[in-house]
Amino acid sequence: MDKKLHVFYAGPCLLPQEVYDQTCEAIKDFKGTGVSVLSISHRTKEWEAVMEETRQLWKELLSIPDGYEVVFLGGGASLQFLYVAMNFLEHKAAYVDSGTWAHKALKEAQGLGEAYAIASSKEKNYTYYPKGFDIPSDLDYLHITTNNTIYGTELREDIDSPVPLIADMSSDIMTRPVDVSKYAMIYGGSQKNVGPAGVAFAIIRKDALGKVSRYIPTMLDYRVHIEKGSMFNTPPVINIYIMNRTLNWVKEMGGIKAIQKRTEDKAKLLYGEIDENPLFKGVAEKDSRSFMNVTFVMNEGYENLADDFLAFSKERGIVGIKGHRSVGGFRASIYNACSLEDVQALTEAMHDFAKLKK
Ligand SMILES: *Cc1c(COP(=O)(O)O)cnc(C)c1O
Repeated sequence: MDKKLHVFYAGPCLLPQEVYDQTCEAIKDFKGTGVSVLSISHRTKEWEAVMEETRQLWKELLSIPDGYEVVFLGGGASLQFLYVAMNFLEHKAAYVDSGTWAHKALKEAQGLGEAYAIASSKEKNYTYYPKGFDIPSDLDYLHITTNNTIYGTELREDIDSPVPLIADMSSDIMTRPVDVSKYAMIYGGSQKNVGPAGVAFAIIRKDALGKVSRYIPTMLDYRVHIEKGSMFNTPPVINIYIMNRTLNWVKEMGGIKAIQKRTEDKAKLLYGEIDENPLFKGVAEKDSRSFMNVTFVMNEGYENLADDFLAFSKERGIVGIKGHRSVGGFRASIYNACSLEDVQALTEAMHDFAKLKK
């Protein structure tokens, strides 16, 4: 492949080139042991060091306060939907229905007890983030999904909640400083910003656990995973290794503040082009726009040019911008490894396409 590609897939996402290289190396020879990271025992001191460093990187990069623990679990974010309900739902929980993933999380909770949507933007095909609702004080927890990967909306702030707040941050974790102390738990799949698919992270306030009376199966009990350092059973070793390299990259980039700046620069550039270019328009309402997944469509009168634009941009090495089937149009996912130059390639393509067609 000699053409430089600009990859905008929504997940699994682009990871930094050095993460790919370091992973290849570790698959051949893990830390000079002569054994592949795929084949070495997870009980060796070399592997234990990776686990510990990965936990520390999370704590350091997000300034996670004392009293919280970070665990890594197989099964992706979707299994965390069930974990959350298992470990926290006793009487009643509320969910903000801000998109498909939020809806799926709610459904898992409803399988175990009483859970309901406290606010929803479904009636407008999730084009905005629901805000301004009252949170009753008798809930076990309030669940939010901070970034709605499919629709391109985001809640880019830490809200106050009178009840334990649990957030699915699958697709915007590690892109801004988060006030972790406002949450009982933050979790997500790794494949949007912090690694490969298949491993989920969970940042849990330890004293929020142990409040339910149900039997919790061993593998679904956060307390077990905290106590065993995410090694109750064999952890998803290679996924955690790649997460470790990705977090090291975040640190080398200058940490979360530097990433935040990079994120804002990219989003601003792309939304700027969408708003100025007569051929395109954004999907999400402006004050709900995601800094991660930028959804846009052809403007009125140009609808028939969508396939043309896909072909035009593909010629320039732009891949992964076809919109999700439930939204249509385009979606450019500009996660951490995506550079400003990648976004520039896209805005230039939009600009040049408009010159050609107008
Ligand atoms: C991708 C995604 C999920 C699902 O993650 P899996 O690891 O595929 O289960 C859940 N929530 C959000 C916000 C996502 O973006």
